[in-house]
Amino acid sequence: MPTYRELLDHVKQEISELDARAAQELDGAAWIDVREADEWQEGHIPGARHVPRGFLESRIEQAVPDKSADVVLYCAGGNRSAFAAKTLQELGYGNVHSLIGGFTDWKRNGLDFTVPRTLTPEKRTRYSRHILIPEIGEEGQLKLLDARILLIGAGGLGSPAALYLAAAGVGKLGIIDADIVDETNLQRQIVHSLNTLGEPKVDSAKRTIQALNPDVEVVGYRERLTSENIDKILDDGWDVIVDGADNFPTRYLVNDASVWHGIPVVHGSIYRFEGQVTVFKPKDGPCYRCLFPEPPPPELAPSCSEGGVLGVLPGIVGSLQTNEAIKLALGIGDPLVGRLLLFDALATDFSEVQIERRADCPVCGDHPTITEYIDYVEFCAAGRGN
Ligand SMILES: [Zn+2]
Repeated sequence: MPTYRELLDHVKQEISELDARAAQELDGAAWIDVREADEWQEGHIPGARHVPRGFLESRIEQAVPDKSADVVLYCAGGNRSAFAAKTLQELGYGNVHSLIGGFTDWKRNGLDFTVPRTLTPEKRTRYSRHILIPEIGEEGQLKLLDARILLIGAGGLGSPAALYLAAAGVGKLGIIDADIVDETNLQRQIVHSLNTLGEPKVDSAKRTIQALNPDVEVVGYRERLTSENIDKILDDGWDVIVDGADNFPTRYLVNDASVWHGIPVVHGSIYRFEGQVTVFKPKDGPCYRCLFPEPPPPELAPSCSEGGVLGVLPGIVGSLQTNEAIKLALGIGDPLVGRLLLFDALATDFSEVQIERRADCPVCGDHPTITEYIDYVEFCAAGRGN
């Protein structure tokens, strides 16, 4: 029987070994780290994939489907990867190489490496249904925990958004709302309850969110959004704005600010049985003023009586907005940029209208005519309440 050393020497004669410089010259090679999980967590070669030696045979075809591809295997010192290279040759891989000196030499030579951030075991359990999705995974969940999303309004649209964003583990949620919780809100504003009647909506929402997920930091702004405070609030640093505003002055203010600050806005609006959702992403698509350059004059605004809305409708529209916000935060999928999604709750019908950025838009166009905030007069807006 050969000794380990003899076996290793024998294997090394039958495989290709490359030093770091030669390995880096292989264009488009798949780099596979065959070490154990704890070694990988302490640092690895950027761009490498982790396929521990013990799972090599069963997982390599998923990691590298093309058996003619260049594959660079590495371990800590170059021995485990030599045996691994021999195994891959036997599986039919034709261009397998073992990295001489492994990760230890790689680091010793001052080459670049990354130390992966990881979730704690508690968070890994809490977000396991996200982590199981390949498009999200642990990396995506870490992104969500780093994400900062600002909600305009803690009303009908803001309620499902606040709840699902908090449940998803979005690290920081800003909520702007000057109102207090009243009885007529509870038909649809599910982040509030009888326990918080009479409380500021910002505080009520914060209590609900913190009971749901203490990982989320809630920043409450108990104020009406105006030209005076909007820059200060946006300067707190937000990746995405979810607009659940129920009035035109706020909608225009949020639009103009988002263009100037370069923050995407997930817009939603509801009326009776109808809802609309779209994403205004500065530079990539239209803004709200591309659709409606100016608000209607106050005298043309219809009746000032409260508008009615089916209670579940903001649940649906606010959830669609949340889906867009999460996709934007993760950088996955196709957001509703340049697409206005219309929902008819009575017919249960979704339709989509293409919308385009206008070169003559007064704010995001080529020659903007609006360069300062405008505080429009508050007026009733066809009962488009939230
Ligand atoms: Zn525009």
